[in-house]
Amino acid sequence: MSSTEGAPLDVIPAHLLKGQKALVTGANSGIGRATAVALGRAGADVVVNYVAGREEAEKVVEEIASFGVRAAAYEADVSDEGQVVAMMDRMVQEFGTIDVLVANAGLQRDAPFTEMTLAQWQKVLDVNLTGQFLCAREAAKEFLRRGVVPEVSRAAGKIICMSSVHQIIPWAGHVNYASSKGGVQMMMQTLAQELAPKKIRVNAIAPGAIKTPINRDAWDTPKARKDLLRLIPYDRIGAPEDIAHAAVGLASDLLDYVVGTTLYVDGGMTLFPGFATGG
Ligand code: NAD
Repeated sequence: MSSTEGAPLDVIPAHLLKGQKALVTGANSGIGRATAVALGRAGADVVVNYVAGREEAEKVVEEIASFGVRAAAYEADVSDEGQVVAMMDRMVQEFGTIDVLVANAGLQRDAPFTEMTLAQWQKVLDVNLTGQFLCAREAAKEFLRRGVVPEVSRAAGKIICMSSVHQIIPWAGHVNYASSKGGVQMMMQTLAQELAPKKIRVNAIAPGAIKTPINRDAWDTPKARKDLLRLIPYDRIGAPEDIAHAAVGLASDLLDYVVGTTLYVDGGMTLFPGFATGG
């Protein structure tokens, strides 16, 4: 195994999520892709949401279908209310219901603060925060309508918000992104508090540095890689599968008592590694 790979798929129990229907947003790339595949490997039927790149989405669908579960690619912009409502309606019509939402879609539009345009600020907030709000709201409506089905899961539904270590680590030059993830943290906790009595579990995953297209600049030269590893006590860059496996756990009844928590999957990045030798 190379220093960037996560654990292989065959560590996932194939029946852990049997009978569950999952929607992963932004699932034709990076973390979303790996998560959709891992949920399928765990026995869930999976809707692969994408906003652009149908071919990539279809490849993910093919890979998931090879596990003997159902999968389909749905195009929708998560920041567009009408498209999110239509996507959820379609899922309920074609898959019967939804049990697991992984609100993963996200992007960056970086700029020094005084040069950041309103459009850059707004785009990141629209996709990273409002997009999660819209998808979570529509999923929660269906969870509440259907209620608990004990043969499928102990919970009426699970929402997993893809946050970031930047929900707590300030990030100069990325004020829109860090603000969106700070917002995700409080949205997640508030939803968890509001929905837990209805047996809906809302949690978040905060990835550290994961090798995906979103952060190519941070790992694609030896110098960038060396600088990045200084921030990671566990001394490897994360793989999308590292996050996918956390999502499988949070979606499953194994973690049924985990409510309103952020699971940091970051190789220790939030341990303030600069203080290991100083301070
Ligand atoms: P990525 O660029 O590979 O994937 C992002 C996905 O979101 C893509 O499929 C993209 O098309 C999709 N997307 C963007 N706008 C969308 C929209 N309006 N509607 C639907 N889909 C849309 O990057 P990734 O690293 O896999 O990022 C996934 C999530 O993980 C993001 O929320 C990101 O903030 C978070 N994250 C990533 C890292 C990392 O190191 N890679 C660290 C912390 C958090």
